[in-house]
Amino acid sequence: MENNYICPKCKGQLKVKKSVVLAAKTPSGEKGLIFLSPKIGDYHVTKHKDFEIKEGERLELFCPICHENLEAKSLNKNLAKFLMRDKDNVDHDVLISEIAGEKCTYVIYKNHVDSFGKDAKHYVNFFGAGTDF
Ligand SMILES: [Zn+2]
Repeated sequence: MENNYICPKCKGQLKVKKSVVLAAKTPSGEKGLIFLSPKIGDYHVTKHKDFEIKEGERLELFCPICHENLEAKSLNKNLAKFLMRDKDNVDHDVLISEIAGEKCTYVIYKNHVDSFGKDAKHYVNFFGAGTDF
């Protein structure tokens, strides 16, 4: 069974078929939906061609169900947080970068952080002991 992805606020399912669906807003105020791969470490993003995202700009990411801002305020404003529920029904925090084109993902369970992506070292200072970069 594959992992599910859950909104931390409304607990709604963010994964539909083969994508994790999030609502995004660009710095210029453009809004659209983005479809992310549910495979951790796969940074392919699908979106409508008219929804333009420029490399390096910081998006705001929202739950498409309850519209909660997913920004991980307590850690870093460039990271968004939601939940990954694994096949054993255990919830992990998943953090992704809100900077377009930045490739990093962190999966956190208790005090353990697994990091993925070539840009993962950018946020190394925001995590404590037990981090293996
Ligand atoms: Zn929600």
